[in-house]
Amino acid sequence: MTAVLEPGTVADAPASNPLDDARAQLAAAIDVLGYDQSMHQLLGTPRREVTVSIPLRRDNGDIEVFTGHRVQHNFSRGPAKGGLRYSPDVTLDEVRALAMWMTWKCALLDVPYGGAKGGVRIDPRHYSPAELERVTRRYTSEISPLIGPERDIPAPDIGTDERTMAWLMDTYSVQQGHTVLGVTTGKPLSLGGSLGRATATSRGVAHVAFAALGDRGIALHGATAAVQGFGKVGRYAARFLAEAGLEVVAVSDQYGAVAAEAGLDIPALEQHVDATGSVLDFAGGDVLDGAALLELEVDLLVPAAVEGVLHGGNTGRVRAKVIVEGANGPTTPEADEVLRQADVLVAPDILANAGGVVVSYFEWVQANQAFWWSSDEVEARLATRMDLAWQSVTAHARRLGVPLRAAATALAVERVAQAHQQRGLYP
Ligand code: NAD
Repeated sequence: MTAVLEPGTVADAPASNPLDDARAQLAAAIDVLGYDQSMHQLLGTPRREVTVSIPLRRDNGDIEVFTGHRVQHNFSRGPAKGGLRYSPDVTLDEVRALAMWMTWKCALLDVPYGGAKGGVRIDPRHYSPAELERVTRRYTSEISPLIGPERDIPAPDIGTDERTMAWLMDTYSVQQGHTVLGVTTGKPLSLGGSLGRATATSRGVAHVAFAALGDRGIALHGATAAVQGFGKVGRYAARFLAEAGLEVVAVSDQYGAVAAEAGLDIPALEQHVDATGSVLDFAGGDVLDGAALLELEVDLLVPAAVEGVLHGGNTGRVRAKVIVEGANGPTTPEADEVLRQADVLVAPDILANAGGVVVSYFEWVQANQAFWWSSDEVEARLATRMDLAWQSVTAHARRLGVPLRAAATALAVERVAQAHQQRGLYP
């Protein structure tokens, strides 16, 4: 019998706060860079945050009130940018951590944004599309003074999708009195979305995975992989890995996991998930405990679900050779240390899952210019940026003698700190 996990539930995990993890990573980078405490304070504190209540009239006439947040962590390099999450586990601290990671990710990939994140504490599975539309429109309306193409540009994250972005764009546009395509990214193609955006995060994950496996001398063909999470990121990551000849031996979602020693048939699994909403009961695999997936002996592990899944309680049992973080914040600092000692190569989130924000940037550029690129152009430009980021992070790690996360965070923090210093402190 497979345990059913609610979204965000992490089996066996000690209580962890992603903001503590994000601040610890920042402190390590500040240390590497030799900056003083005031820089940690400055970069560890969001520039702006707002909490709103969102009253919803349900389809049956009842009223329910939800809490939503938008945190803008930094604007030194440009407008804030970051996803919008719908999950019952959303907390202000989680949104703060995710906003901070967005700042580093944008700086690392050299896209001209600061970081932001939004969240509404709601389990979208329990609400009708009409109810989710009303929640989205009310949330957008509440935060609309803070967002816009030059201020803060939301995108999809856990529990939201291109339909959510269409409602957000429409609500903002109605308030402005004209259509503003650049207020959000991850929109449907018919509304100024970019070709290649839906798969961009996963393409970037696969790109980094291939480079990381190469770094460890592991041939792609026949290498084994396990993917945690089968949503917007995990699903296409599994597809691209399988297409490159890897055997994806296990995949999980919040309901459980499936495994097949010879490799899962990913297109068939995708069809099963489209039909049933879960990987459970897939005829082409055996039932596996969701937590056990993380401990399989595989060449590559891709956590692509939620924060804090690799922690002090389970990481000692991890047997993957390479970990590529599709999710944001899946590895706690304690787990990072265990993995460092075990010589596991960890490609950190701010590098590995940055393909999404890179193509979001392309979408924003295209929307602002009202000129659209072909999918070949999008994919070629994405590959160039991911390659460049991989090369600069690995070179920096070698120079400093530190793991990839420390190198990536230090590179990103240095760029943000430089922008801040060059602009100066107002007043
Ligand atoms: P999603 O809602 O589309 O999918 C989430 C998946 O994770 C679902 O399959 C869900 O069932 C599964 N899941 C949830 N809790 C789980 C658990 N405890 N164990 C196993 N599976 C679990 O969300 P998404 O957009 O794919 O985002 C996944 C992660 O990737 C998040 O950390 C998000 O912040 C990060 N991310 C997303 C993007 C993007 O473009 N969507 C970009 C960068 C990073």
